[in-house]
Amino acid sequence: MSEQTRFLLNESDLPKFWYNVMADSPVAPTPVLRPDTLEPVTPDFLSVLFPMELILQEVSTERHIEIPEEVREIYKLYRPTPLIRARRLEKALGTPAHIYYKNEGVSPAGSHKPNTAIPQAFYNKIAGTKALTTETGAGQWGSALAMACQMFDLDLEVYMVKVSYQQKPYRRIFMQTFGAQVFASPTDRTNYGRALLQQDPDNPGSLGIAISEAVEAAATSGGVKKYSLGSVLNHVLMHQSVIGEEALKQMDLADEYPDVVIGCVGGGSNFAGIAYPFLRENLKNGQRARLLAVEPTATPSLTRGVYTFDYGDTAKMAPVVKMHTLGHDFVPPSIHAGGLRYHGMAPSLSAFVDAGLIDAISVPQKSTFEAAVQFARAEGIVPAPESSHAIRAAIDEALDAKAKDEKRVILFNLSGHGNFDMAAYDSYLDGNLEDHEYPAEAIKAAMENLPQVNMPA
Ligand SMILES: *Cc1c(COP(=O)(O)O)cnc(C)c1O
Repeated sequence: MSEQTRFLLNESDLPKFWYNVMADSPVAPTPVLRPDTLEPVTPDFLSVLFPMELILQEVSTERHIEIPEEVREIYKLYRPTPLIRARRLEKALGTPAHIYYKNEGVSPAGSHKPNTAIPQAFYNKIAGTKALTTETGAGQWGSALAMACQMFDLDLEVYMVKVSYQQKPYRRIFMQTFGAQVFASPTDRTNYGRALLQQDPDNPGSLGIAISEAVEAAATSGGVKKYSLGSVLNHVLMHQSVIGEEALKQMDLADEYPDVVIGCVGGGSNFAGIAYPFLRENLKNGQRARLLAVEPTATPSLTRGVYTFDYGDTAKMAPVVKMHTLGHDFVPPSIHAGGLRYHGMAPSLSAFVDAGLIDAISVPQKSTFEAAVQFARAEGIVPAPESSHAIRAAIDEALDAKAKDEKRVILFNLSGHGNFDMAAYDSYLDGNLEDHEYPAEAIKAAMENLPQVNMPA
């Protein structure tokens, strides 16, 4: 028993409810604003983009929302996911710390993203939606949604950031295998894309631009197509709560409780997935786990951005929310953790960081690959470059515990595997990787175009 490595749940332990942190949040929710008027959105504005059930979840303050049986059935293809004690990594580090990781890389698409792709496709299907539109950067979100749309017989249009489309053909082919249509963004399919291409036919694209195109494609479809987002929104974060709910039970099986819970952050969904159930335990049940969000130094929205209202996309078509932002015009350096290259952050996570309930740090790219390779060589899993940010922080915690000669229980979320990211590992192994500090002047410049919102803070 003392050498147990995998802590597994049965199919019958699969959560029946998602956990909605807004029910227990000590900070009031901030309003979501229309991008054109900067007035609070109404359901009819959002219903152009989302089915009503997801809009209701977005604004819900119910603590628990039942997971539909149709969704649980598909979750069972890969959930509950394993919790692993990283015994071999502990040994390699010579640390007295106990390191656990929740492996979301076992999902069919290779990351946590199907946890929300599946319910989003389901709620669209029962609302009569014919097709979804979405953006993808590195391709992980597009892969997850392509699989989910196929399972519910929905068409899917993916606007894939052009540089990724060119550099990551395997993710594109993965999506096409599930029947998705994939376009290199900017495209000539939208007004916004055409305008950008006219200025610069070689525009490499960005996540903000791809979001604008996917939103425009849905908004101008006369109700046939809806839009789907893979992170940031409340309902997306809530769908990910299955990660933390399972992890709580699995830590119980291991007869331990984490001192620190770690996740990487792009828009905040996998971190919220593992951390919010532990935040509930902190707020309601007297636990004191430290919750630590880890971002790249190249896109430091939580650690160096401003907590204010900003647009969710570059063309100012998506709603305006209060979040830690680097400015909607921010074009991040091209780092290999493509899933973390977003200018903003989930509003709830931003509010919790602002309130001191959650800590945030940033780590440079090369050190994340060092950690990734160390982890791979000990545990046998090549992690996604995004997840490697969490691994870096977990290893640093374990080394700190070693220096202080104290036992510490560390839990991190392995948000995905890196089997499609060999080009990134190739650059690292060849010594061609660079670190990026985002210059202070650039942050200041990007803040000049923020929306002028007159809202009580
Ligand atoms: C998309 C992605 C992320 C970042 O998105 P979050 O919403 O912050 O979780 C992290 N890890 C992996 C493997 C991803 O695919």
